[in-house]
Amino acid sequence: RFEGVSMAPPDPILGVSEAFRADKCDLKLNLGVGAYRTEELQPYVLNVVKKAENLMLQRGENKEYLPIEGLAAFNKVTAELLLGADNPAIHQGRVATVQGLSGTGSLRLAAALIERYFPGAKVLISSPTWGNHKNIFNDARVPWSEYRYYDPKTVGLDFDGMISDIKAAPEGSFILLHGCAHNPTGIDPTPAQWEKIADVIQEKNHIPFFDVAYQGFASGSLDEDASSVRLFVARGMEVLVAQSYSKNLGLYSERIGAMNVICSSSDVAVRVKSQLKRIARPMYSNPPIHGAKIVANVVGDPTLFNEWKEEMELMAGRIKTVRQKLFDSLSAKDKSGKDWSFILKQIGMFSFTGLNKAQSDNMTDKWHVYMTKDGRISLAGLSLAKCEYLADAIIDSYHN
Ligand code: PMP
Repeated sequence: RFEGVSMAPPDPILGVSEAFRADKCDLKLNLGVGAYRTEELQPYVLNVVKKAENLMLQRGENKEYLPIEGLAAFNKVTAELLLGADNPAIHQGRVATVQGLSGTGSLRLAAALIERYFPGAKVLISSPTWGNHKNIFNDARVPWSEYRYYDPKTVGLDFDGMISDIKAAPEGSFILLHGCAHNPTGIDPTPAQWEKIADVIQEKNHIPFFDVAYQGFASGSLDEDASSVRLFVARGMEVLVAQSYSKNLGLYSERIGAMNVICSSSDVAVRVKSQLKRIARPMYSNPPIHGAKIVANVVGDPTLFNEWKEEMELMAGRIKTVRQKLFDSLSAKDKSGKDWSFILKQIGMFSFTGLNKAQSDNMTDKWHVYMTKDGRISLAGLSLAKCEYLADAIIDSYHN
């Protein structure tokens, strides 16, 4: 009876890791998925995570079900980390927070909420964006369209295009924004541009919907990286925010994140939270406890919190050194006069190289460098030792 099931295409991001595993060449390099590696290209478990896990073992904590909305201590600290502990929206009880299955699961919950309570409303996503956004809204049957974001001519933000597309969207649309370290371009609006974006969204009665997957990875400061979200909240707007701890705490496989809805009143927040729970119950019943306890222990404890910040600086710092070395290698080796400085201007885990699909294929087929076909490379998966090799591969792919 399953005879009629056709073969699904490989996932554009996780499929790259599958292909990488199958490659037998020693030179191979996996720059597809955005996962932090050490200089030795090994996965990294943060020391604060190990400490929090030891604490959990010592306390002999149990594995009972969590409530549908997740661990209360986690929900409290995650909203505080996002908005600042002294944010009036928190004190006024206007924030509905539900623990989600990392960033993806949290986005999916919000998509279901939109489908149910805003039938026909459109979500606007940036062009380009993280590959999974379209899947998430498609599966939730939420219509979406794109707003201009990346300008290949300037290798920067197409700010005018972005503003006019947001203006042109039907009133009351959801505008999906990357809180910081835009994936895949590594290009964020300036604070002044964020103000203008907020103006237009307010004028048009749109609802801002933030995806925050890299808090701490853009500027190196957790507070500064949340400033875009906080600006919208400070204006008294209703805001959706999906959070992920995959990258900043290295908890990729624990699937820990949250969906926050900042509402106009505490009454509304209570009702919204009840509906998020109603959506979660038949999907996965209740979320996993392990990652939630780790986050609650690290973010909720001043000593561990400070150690976390130091480790995050270490990770972000390593990525910055690799970024610099890649730029230096490209500039030294490339005799065509091409300006590679865009690499230094981009922030976060990725570099958006501008390589097209055929050139990206050359990177993989000839050089064993695995990357997504939109030209994105994860610098978090690159070592200083491999920069020269990568520069050779990029130059060869560009000019052929
Ligand atoms: N949003 C963006 C923009 C991302 O880059 C990612 C991770 N690649 C996510 C959300 C969610 O990832 P996760 O589900 O692992 O938290």
